[in-house]
Amino acid sequence: MTEFSDKVVLITGGSRGIGKAIAELFINENATVIVTYRNSIDNEYFNSKNIFHFKCDVADMKSVQEVTDGILKDHSKIDVLVNNAGITKDGLLMRMSEEDWDAVLDTNLKGVFNMTKAVSRSMMSKRYGKIINITSIVGITGNAGQSNYVASKAGVIGFTKSVAKELASRNININAVAPGFIETEMTDKLPEEVRKNYMNAIPLKRFGKGEDIAKTVRFLASDDSGYITGQTICVDGGIVMQ
Ligand code: NAP
Repeated sequence: MTEFSDKVVLITGGSRGIGKAIAELFINENATVIVTYRNSIDNEYFNSKNIFHFKCDVADMKSVQEVTDGILKDHSKIDVLVNNAGITKDGLLMRMSEEDWDAVLDTNLKGVFNMTKAVSRSMMSKRYGKIINITSIVGITGNAGQSNYVASKAGVIGFTKSVAKELASRNININAVAPGFIETEMTDKLPEEVRKNYMNAIPLKRFGKGEDIAKTVRFLASDDSGYITGQTICVDGGIVMQ
């Protein structure tokens, strides 16, 4: 038995990267784990008895409503929602297309709105819920070449604070985790020069791993963090010190 044995944990974008590390941690905690993805999933890995997976584009409210209704029908509750799904489409403002702006905002910010709205009604009626939004340190600092991504992640931080105020009376905590440089497919595609610059700026002198984020998510999903809401915790080796 663990604190999460009777908990239903829903993780968006859980097919790889940080989302997969979060899913693995909660599988080991014996939670009922539900992951969503957009394109494909490695069936072999997700072939354990307490894990379920659904194709669901978080940017599409209809798809989100269908999937969350189905989960609530089958499992009767969602205790923990981790809004992790995210994409980048980088470029300097002058070269950024409207399509790239919309795609990033639709997944990273509207996706968080869609999922949170779809899940919070049930949490409100149960008087229990933990929502954890994965933002980014660049949502705090800004970053040249990422105005769409930064706007979406800064939006998530503001969204988290506002919804924390709305849902606190229903015993729902909503917080954000801001990763720094975490080794995943998203960061694999960055040029060596950018990786080197990041490493120089990291006081702890290592890139983060998915597990570093997963452990912080676990804390925010646990009752140990019951008096924390509306906050953004940086997990970044010390790059951003607020
Ligand atoms: P990743 O390896 O690229 O994985 C992204 C995940 O999101 C995949 O499972 C992908 O599904 C899913 N996804 C993308 N668009 C989706 C959509 N519209 N609907 C549903 N699922 C969607 O990314 P990551 O590095 O693990 O990043 C995870 C989160 O952490 C993101 O929000 C990212 O912005 C944030 N973050 C990452 C870093 C970092 O250093 N890696 C730093 C700061 C913040 P498919 O596989 O099906 O496409």
